[in-house]
Amino acid sequence: MDIHRNTWIEIDLDAIAYNIKQIQKKLPKETKVMAVVKANGYGHGSVQIAKQALQAGSDYLAVALLEEAIKLREASIKAPILVLGWVPPESAIVAARYGITLTVFQQEWLEQIKGYTFSPPLHLHLKVDTGMGRIGIRTEQELKDISQALNENNSIYLTGVFTHFSTADESESTYFDEQRTRFKNTLSQLKELRMEKINVHIGNSASAIRLPEAMYDFVRFGISMYGLYPSQEIKVKGEIELKQAFSLHSRLVHVKKINPGDCVSYGCTYQAEAEEWIGTLPIGYGDGWLRKMQGFSVLVDGKRMPIVGRICMDQTMIKLDQAYPIGTKVTLIGCQNDACISMDEVSNYAETINYEIPCILNDRIPRIYK
Ligand code: PLP
Repeated sequence: MDIHRNTWIEIDLDAIAYNIKQIQKKLPKETKVMAVVKANGYGHGSVQIAKQALQAGSDYLAVALLEEAIKLREASIKAPILVLGWVPPESAIVAARYGITLTVFQQEWLEQIKGYTFSPPLHLHLKVDTGMGRIGIRTEQELKDISQALNENNSIYLTGVFTHFSTADESESTYFDEQRTRFKNTLSQLKELRMEKINVHIGNSASAIRLPEAMYDFVRFGISMYGLYPSQEIKVKGEIELKQAFSLHSRLVHVKKINPGDCVSYGCTYQAEAEEWIGTLPIGYGDGWLRKMQGFSVLVDGKRMPIVGRICMDQTMIKLDQAYPIGTKVTLIGCQNDACISMDEVSNYAETINYEIPCILNDRIPRIYK
């Protein structure tokens, strides 16, 4: 669709390739990168990011939903794809048809597809809950039940096993180590059941950065592929240099002088103390630019200008240091010359994590790939 608005997101695809190279440099040769492109590639655009990640040397893709995997297949992406979340058993037939690998962790789920013949065969990765408390098997009995159910259908193959850490991004490692030990126990049990010749993966970005040599066959590389650090602790350790791929820009659509005592926006929460220049930007909470961002700054002409008054559904007002022409570029996330507003700065101000910001800036804002 043509773009008729003056607000856009730029995605630097070279930064995606750069970040993948950075993690590859730390990983042993046998550990491959599984690019995590769920939630529309963390808001960056799943198809474009998946294609770039594959070109940059990833071997596998991961998403959360079957719909997200099908979208990639429909964009002619042939690489293996794993769906990390629960998929209704009756949808397994669709997954097999598209050659999409699903996650398994319930015997009842396998029971429900017992009578199906999958062609091509259905591939599954077993999820082990070693302490995340979300999805996955927790006991040896569950593993035995699943193993038995798998043996009852010869059009289903178990091709992988994985777990997920709850505290990989924290500096304290006791709980992280406990989870690793529990997972190792499951690997021994799998061996006893002669189910050991499968892919093993345990780590997300934070785990891969802190313990690259312990990642088995794949790293599920999400946030840091987009150039963001999983936490302040990981960033401060400085073990990897990343490039943020995402930037958000707009243009002034209106500029006016207001007088002392004049108000800006709903509720008159901002009142001018002197004569002031006010600029209007065509972005608001309807785009995912949160009302909470009132009082934060944006970049105009390489300088910080404050957001004044309440953020509206479609518009945001800023206080300018002088009159600027309509059409002047404004950067809300990213750099202008040497001045930068990072995703982390935005997420800290919004009292959330950097993962959330690109996900909530919704598809009302066009993504432009560079
Ligand atoms: N693996 C699983 C199971 C996940 O849920 C996620 C993200 O939430 C990832 C990997 C990627 O994690 P990160 O974005 O921290 O690299």
